[in-house]
Amino acid sequence: MLIDTHCHINFKDYELDRESMLQRALDNGVEKVICVGMLPEGGREALALARKYPGRVYASVGAHPYDAGKLDASTLGEFRELLSEPEMILFGEMGIDTVKAPDPVHVQERAFAQQLELAGELDLPVCVHSRDAFKLCERVIRGVHPQGWKGFAHCFSDGPDEALGWVELGFKVSFAGQVTFKNRSCDVIREAAKVLTPEDVVVETDSPFLTPDPHRGKRNEPGFVRHTAEKLAEIWGLSREEVFARTTATARGVLGI
Ligand SMILES: [Zn+2]
Repeated sequence: MLIDTHCHINFKDYELDRESMLQRALDNGVEKVICVGMLPEGGREALALARKYPGRVYASVGAHPYDAGKLDASTLGEFRELLSEPEMILFGEMGIDTVKAPDPVHVQERAFAQQLELAGELDLPVCVHSRDAFKLCERVIRGVHPQGWKGFAHCFSDGPDEALGWVELGFKVSFAGQVTFKNRSCDVIREAAKVLTPEDVVVETDSPFLTPDPHRGKRNEPGFVRHTAEKLAEIWGLSREEVFARTTATARGVLGI
């Protein structure tokens, strides 16, 4: 069994085949998926799916670093309300992106800190989007939660030092399709996996993005998360059954499911 800890199956990309796509996930051993909604509107979509597929789909909501400038008091209030629903088991994605986000870093830092404070109040794990921003994220997290916090370093794309840094902060490192990519530039991600154990790691697809090999070029979907877990098994020299079981236990521990 597997859990896809991060996907966007509320997107229009799945409008025509959401039902059969979720069935294919089950057929591939993916028994649970976390649908990450962006801003209250996306969160409501994720929640609706979680209610439609109880025990199979769970929900998350947050202000992505791309939306940092849109986070105001009323949005935070809507998050608080949405996150009180039992299907909402994760808060995010949130964080800092120094590559593509439209808002300057200080705006992203503020939005991240405000959401981390609310996560503390609600005692929820968070899903962090960090792109070339580990040190910045670390500073914001320690500023709000000096002892660190809990959650996932989503779509991890840095190297061994940053991977160990996330573990030090209390987080699990979440690998997506890049770990399967043949590109040399992805070697560093595989190096990071080598310094971790399955107790530090969860897997995700980030569907519809980042489709793993051998499906690259197609739309991604939760059933493909097995390819990422299989690649990790190869890197660690473990059986895939063992990696499936241990990373799923890691995800369950954080999410409480
Ligand atoms: Zn995402």
